Amino acid sequence: MPEPTDDCIFCRIIRGELPCHRLYEDNHVLSFLDIGPISHGHCLIIPKAHVERFDQLDATASGACLAVVPRLSAAVMSATGALSWNLLQNNGAEAGQVVPHVHFHIIPNVDGRRLRFEWTPGQLDADAGKDLAAKITHTLNQT
Ligand code: AMP
Ligand code: ZN
Repeated sequence: MPEPTDDCIFCRIIRGELPCHRLYEDNHVLSFLDIGPISHGHCLIIPKAHVERFDQLDATASGACLAVVPRLSAAVMSATGALSWNLLQNNGAEAGQVVPHVHFHIIPNVDGRRLRFEWTPGQLDADAGKDLAAKITHTLNQT
């Protein structure tokens, strides 16, 4: 497991050097309320391993993070009265990641305060799709 780093905010929370409103903890995972919530109940799930992006996380840590999502999101919905919610996970600064330690956002839709994003669908060309799927699966099969 990568060592926590001295200057990472989330590693410092894991070590107890910075406070948080803790919701859940096990050997691999910590969850706590987001300090800048975009809705009531907005919270984070982080692996205890200091890894920057989800694509760099091993199967144990990634599985441990995702295993918490159903129970925690259900508890957040129950506590806030939200009937719907989003799971958000940013990887890389260009994708909106500010804290370079993997984290999942659970964002309940409460009183109209919720995650909003623009999504303009394109059209997948059949030939281009075939080529792209072949390229991705080729790489996938090598890992
Ligand atoms: P992202 O833009 O996906 O990197 O999101 C980082 C999130 O971490 C933001 O929603 C911040 O409000 C949250 N955050 C940053 N520092 C803290 C902290 N000390 N405690 C709780 N949440 C934090
Ligand atoms: Zn960290």
